[in-house]
Amino acid sequence: MIERLLSEVAGRRGDLIELTRKLIAIPTLNPPGDNYREICEFLRARLQRSGFATELLRAEGAPADSERYPRWNLIARREGIAPGECVHFNSHTDVVAVGSDWTVDPFGGEIRDGRIFGRGACDMKGGLAASIIAAEAFIACSPDYRGAIEISGTADEESGGYGGVAWLAERGYFSPPRVHHVIIPEPLNKNRICLGHRGLWWAELEISGRIAHGSMPFLGDCAVRHMSATIAEMEESLFPKLAERRTEMPVVPEGARQSTLNINSIHGGEPEPAKEYSGYPASCVPDRCRIVLDRRFLAEEPIDEVKNEIRSLVRKVAARRQGFEWELRDFYDVDPVLTDRQAPVAQAVDSAIERVLGCSPDYVVSPGTYDQKHIDRIGKLKNCIAYGPGVLDLAHQPDEWIGIDDMVDSAGVMALAIAALLREH
Ligand SMILES: [Zn+2]
Repeated sequence: MIERLLSEVAGRRGDLIELTRKLIAIPTLNPPGDNYREICEFLRARLQRSGFATELLRAEGAPADSERYPRWNLIARREGIAPGECVHFNSHTDVVAVGSDWTVDPFGGEIRDGRIFGRGACDMKGGLAASIIAAEAFIACSPDYRGAIEISGTADEESGGYGGVAWLAERGYFSPPRVHHVIIPEPLNKNRICLGHRGLWWAELEISGRIAHGSMPFLGDCAVRHMSATIAEMEESLFPKLAERRTEMPVVPEGARQSTLNINSIHGGEPEPAKEYSGYPASCVPDRCRIVLDRRFLAEEPIDEVKNEIRSLVRKVAARRQGFEWELRDFYDVDPVLTDRQAPVAQAVDSAIERVLGCSPDYVVSPGTYDQKHIDRIGKLKNCIAYGPGVLDLAHQPDEWIGIDDMVDSAGVMALAIAALLREH
């Protein structure tokens, strides 16, 4: 059975390549959210031919959903001959901006040296294509399976997933009794099982001062100086402390196996002049300064402590500076997610990797969040992992590519995992 299934997958190599190239050719750039309908229609036609029932769902009312840029999602489901559990593969269909320095057409799907090039090749149209081939190969081998297989193509992962997985999870699409096992084919490498991600807290710190003529700064209060004192304090006492805080979570790369803080942006004083304005600035003492904070935290750190640490740092600086007024605005936070290694979906992929690649998998945790957060928090489904072909470092880079052999191997792993999960029930 295993040999037959793997040869079914291997026999679909040409199909896998063509499917990946066709997905890359649909430029689903987000923002703004281009061509979601087109890619969903394409997936719908493909999966209907393979016997899937499909639902095309627009995330009406979700952030960024509009008449001009509707957030379309596709859910495809194929029932077996008897009721049972459902294995779901979830891929996001959006890709990030192309950027510069490409040497190939970003939507051309060029093939060279066993690789397919294009924006989204590894993140994550190659993984989506591999999961479709895996499901089709399994169905061809075991048409009489029990349970159900689902494949979804969802919007907006690159901008938080609110018009995709979050919206669907709120409507029960990622919870039992509909779905029991979820695999997200993000590019974590064909021999790695990703159990989750670190936590995240986004916030904005605004410090206000008092505007005055720049020739008499003593009549005003410079918010930029207050902010620079705050950042100096962070350099002095916060960054070294965060670097020392190590986690038991197997985060990759190694540098992310600690707490981190990124100062995402800084803005002080009057807004930047319009591009058409060719004159000089006016002389003012800046009366406000803002920074946006991107704090990534560990399973060992309670979110309240993460927030209090920043608050007390700012309070400490404020106490020694006259006129220092500040406000810390929470944008949002996401708890760390860590699926149990013994979860059935992790175990099924573990054995499948062993069979296909002849080695045991590495268990890893992602430095950044992805759609698993919504499946965990909203769907309340803990039996979820990320597993897919591709090298994470290539994501969002120029000349992004996916290895064809890696896709075939991953599709083999996915097919064996479906077989294991649906056979046992
Ligand atoms: Zn991705």
